[in-house]
Amino acid sequence: MSNKQKINLAGLTLEGLTNLFTDLNERPFRAGQVMKWIHQRGITDIGLMSDISKRLRERLCEVGEIRLPHILSEFVSSDGSRKWIVEVASGSQVEMVYIPEAGRGTLCISSQAGCSLDCAFCATGKQGFDSNLSVAEIVGQLWWANKLLGNFDQSSPNVISNVVMMGMGEPLLNFNNVINSVNIMMQDSAYGLSKRKVTISTSGVVPAIKKMSGLTEASLALSLHAPNDRLRSQIMPINKKYSIAELLSSAKSYMESLSDSRVPLIEYTLIKGINDHRQHARDLAKLLASFPCKINLIPFNAFEKSNFERPSGSSITNFREILKKAGYTVTVRTTRANDIGAACGQLVGGVSDRTQRSVRYKRTIDKSNESSVKLVGKLATTAERI
Ligand code: SAH
Ligand code: SF4
Repeated sequence: MSNKQKINLAGLTLEGLTNLFTDLNERPFRAGQVMKWIHQRGITDIGLMSDISKRLRERLCEVGEIRLPHILSEFVSSDGSRKWIVEVASGSQVEMVYIPEAGRGTLCISSQAGCSLDCAFCATGKQGFDSNLSVAEIVGQLWWANKLLGNFDQSSPNVISNVVMMGMGEPLLNFNNVINSVNIMMQDSAYGLSKRKVTISTSGVVPAIKKMSGLTEASLALSLHAPNDRLRSQIMPINKKYSIAELLSSAKSYMESLSDSRVPLIEYTLIKGINDHRQHARDLAKLLASFPCKINLIPFNAFEKSNFERPSGSSITNFREILKKAGYTVTVRTTRANDIGAACGQLVGGVSDRTQRSVRYKRTIDKSNESSVKLVGKLATTAERI
């Protein structure tokens, strides 16, 4: 069997590994042993898996191997955050970010090289789309972060307690691989992360949210960013396909399918003059009145040649206070790792765009700023009217 055809053990769920051992006429508990070697001890050499007989290790080497993505570079922010550039099989580069905080650490990982959904305020969207990441490439980001932070030695203080699928790409457009990946992250014999602390963030792929029930118990975050369909469709093209009402209803059903009581996180990127007016906050409070949730406000992070701006501190406070007074739990995401281009929406990697969108975007911006300025103007007018 050539290397290419070998099964990548790093991309198999517990069920997948169990099936593999059953096919090899081996006992199913071997699956948990192999998972621990890979995901808890960071071992990629099957020959070192010492609680498995030599004969079985040889057999396993014949049919399988452990392939992880490559780490190309690391950037360390003055605030302690780290960003890594990861090369995936397609040749594109994606980014992942580690954000340490008191008593916890969050890893923000990518699910796709680029993104096909062109949200107006997102640098990843402007890159166009190249490919879906495999399970081993998604879980491999967590594996590498643990490795590079020294966590496999169990002596490191850099715990990874939370994983958020908020890096590059739309997770639910890479459905099977993302679901299998988050399940591996929450699997006790792999990373054993709490289901409350593994979060899939989506711009609102409604049929995929409907499909999630029963397949995973991961937490859900919805990128809402507008309190009505008209404005949301202007900044997030996916809203033309799936309305806010459909989005909220599918998310509600998913939350009801979980074995514990949890609410989704509503993400709302605040963009100056677009969606940050007091009336937007009041409309948002009304919209979510019968939708149990927490709200996370994300001040817009600028990227190269973006034509949007971050609102002033007082606008952000006013917006937050209106929601708080209406009874919501509201947090404002502090901007981290800005100095290394790793804040929300700034991740770009190096995507070989198949859609030509990045070329069109650059051409539009380079020729003249007019069309982008027009877009801001148009949206600002809408915002004023609301
Ligand atoms: N595709 C997924 C997850 C990746 S983006 C999604 O859209 O949910 C993670 C979060 O960052 C989303 O809420 C997204 O809307 C937000 N975001 C994108 N660009 C941003 C920017 N420039 N500034 C602030 N937040 C941004
Ligand atoms: Fe894609 Fe999410 Fe960016 Fe929209 S915000 S373009 S869905 S990565």
